[in-house]
Amino acid sequence: MNKKMVCVACPIGCPLEVEVNEKGEAISITGNTCKRGETYARSEITNPTRSLTTTVKLLGGKNPVVPVKSTSPFPKGRMLEAMKVINKTQLKAPVHIGEVAVKNILDTGIDIVVTNNDTGR
Ligand code: SF4
Repeated sequence: MNKKMVCVACPIGCPLEVEVNEKGEAISITGNTCKRGETYARSEITNPTRSLTTTVKLLGGKNPVVPVKSTSPFPKGRMLEAMKVINKTQLKAPVHIGEVAVKNILDTGIDIVVTNNDTGR
């Protein structure tokens, strides 16, 4: 089976074609113009990840929510599960950039951290 995708490892966006065997392994990758494209394609086939960016409820803040993100790319297949945890999370103002909102979410070793300051009302 062949899978087509666009490499997002840099802004060039090379179109990639990946031949996948019956075990779900990438056996050939074409279209990449550098090694990073191959790494990206293999990762997309075996363990696709995305940056997780969303908001968390904030009590006593100038705003009712504060933006957060994952400290590294998050497994795509576990996004909904992670959102359930994040949606139950509440922080109290003041909050600062880099503050951990959810530590080691779903035992992935990835933290969810605040990306904006809110000193409160
Ligand atoms: S294959 Fe290399 S040059 Fe092409 S988009 Fe990916 S990182 Fe950029």
